[in-house]
Amino acid sequence: MFNLILFGPPGSGKGTQSEKLIDRYGLKHLSTGDLLRSEIAQHTALGLEAKSLMDKGQLVPDEVVIGMISSALDHHPKAKGFLFDGFPRTSAQAEALDKLLELKHTSIGVMLALEVSEQELIRRLLKRGETSGRSDDTNEQVIRNRIELYHNTTAAVADYYKKFDKVKMVRGEGTIEEIFRSLAKEIDLRIQSSVSQ
Ligand code: ADP
Repeated sequence: MFNLILFGPPGSGKGTQSEKLIDRYGLKHLSTGDLLRSEIAQHTALGLEAKSLMDKGQLVPDEVVIGMISSALDHHPKAKGFLFDGFPRTSAQAEALDKLLELKHTSIGVMLALEVSEQELIRRLLKRGETSGRSDDTNEQVIRNRIELYHNTTAAVADYYKKFDKVKMVRGEGTIEEIFRSLAKEIDLRIQSSVSQ
């Protein structure tokens, strides 16, 4: 199994690149943002709780997203590997993920962290808000809150994986294809070495 975390601030292109990466590597895409939006669309109690937080650009409680990831992992026992997108976002989520993967006798192969300037992030998110129907992408203040939360809380998750030498920074500006090639190069390097070990 090869599991990877695609990391980076809101608007850094995780969703776009995830789609291409799961195609190439046959991984199962687990996006907590998508899972939460699906709960909202189905009007579940969990979705209702999550929506008010998401609309303000705040995080949904750790136990909620950890529970969602845990059941998603159980639902795909035959997966070749998982691509985590938007998760983990706190150190508690990172520790919980490590434990869940350990139970399945696997671990994170690499965290690929997309780097994009703040100005470019805001531009991309406002543009996405024009068509995505995502209420958290239409208000510049909510976008700024999400980026600030990323710097204050989520960025620490990279430090957690740096301790295990598992983080690789990748330039997230350029064409979609250029960025995809940079990500794929890093994965290829690690898949080869995990096979030859
Ligand atoms: P983006 O990264 O572009 O902001 P996401 O789709 O990943 O978008 O997440 C949208 C919102 O869903 C977040 O602002 C947050 O409220 C909530 N969310 C998603 N993943 C998590 C998570 N792992 N922990 C807590 N909240 C989350």
